[in-house]
Amino acid sequence: MTDSANNVTVGVIGLGLMGSALADVLMTQGFDLRVWNRSRDKCERFAAAGVPVGDSAATVANECEVLVVCLTDHAASMDVLQSGEVAKGLEGKTLVLLTTMTAEDSLVTAAWAAENGIHYLDGAILAYPREVRDMACMIVYSGPRAVFEACKPVLDALGGMPRIVGDEAGIAIRFASAIYTVYYAHAVGMIQGAAMCTAAGAPLEVFIEQTTANWDWSEDDAYLLERVAKRDYTVQEAALEIHAAGFGTTPSLCDQLGVSSELPRVIAGLLNEALRRGHAGDELPALFEVLRKPNE
Ligand code: NAP
Repeated sequence: MTDSANNVTVGVIGLGLMGSALADVLMTQGFDLRVWNRSRDKCERFAAAGVPVGDSAATVANECEVLVVCLTDHAASMDVLQSGEVAKGLEGKTLVLLTTMTAEDSLVTAAWAAENGIHYLDGAILAYPREVRDMACMIVYSGPRAVFEACKPVLDALGGMPRIVGDEAGIAIRFASAIYTVYYAHAVGMIQGAAMCTAAGAPLEVFIEQTTANWDWSEDDAYLLERVAKRDYTVQEAALEIHAAGFGTTPSLCDQLGVSSELPRVIAGLLNEALRRGHAGDELPALFEVLRKPNE
């Protein structure tokens, strides 16, 4: 790879919603960019900006030092990577695969890359395209740290917050699933609460005021996670038995209100399981012990 970061020739394959955002930030940061997309129309904007458009994925693989691939799914990625002379063009170079896939797919791809002499990283994008363009996007990677460091200037350009979370392929994808779990648990909890509030005939604007303006999530989250990190479950605010008793009536309340009680039942079940395992007198972060070992 050339010394000056922006002299690195970077290829982007896939110019869909996400791939085009990745190509945009590489272009605006002055990288020597090459692009290819199956449907030519998505390449036109880049061609008009003077970016060379490959006549095939293999051309881009041949011409670049780092190849970023972001396609619909793993099958599409392998279709492209295993077609024509793409693998040959990538020999001795770095492939950064940002298509969402399973950890198993990731391991198979890492083995395929090794067989073909390709340095390989895979990543999971934890944001929307607009956040990539705003340089406020964390992308987590797994693969050899030396490969991550060697192409760090390129990874820095892709949203501004590259993080390596494991040396083995597949770890980034598993990490991303943990992050998505937080996102969806929070989002679904919010929507469930809004449904309960409306069904109870209470004003949604006060619900919004409490959950968005008044509630400092960052403070609460930091409190919970710092306690988990230290495995410190001593009670400072409220014991788990208080949480379990307080929340325990919520599923039946939901039934009375005629809204779904599925999510509250899951939460109440977990709290009760923590009591069964002897955490009644511990703080809420002790639920970590139940969740990490569900079958004890
Ligand atoms: P998208 O807008 O639908 O773009 C899909 C791209 O894949 C297009 O360039 C499409 O080419 C190409 N493609 C599909 N099948 C192909 C094949 N067999 N051969 C060659 N090219 C093929 O999707 P996206 O939103 O950019 O998502 C791309 C990846 O990023 C996904 O794995 C997604 O999970 C991940 N991601 C997206 C977001 C997001 O907010 N959008 C966030 C995080 C992660 P054509 O133009 O020819 O159809």
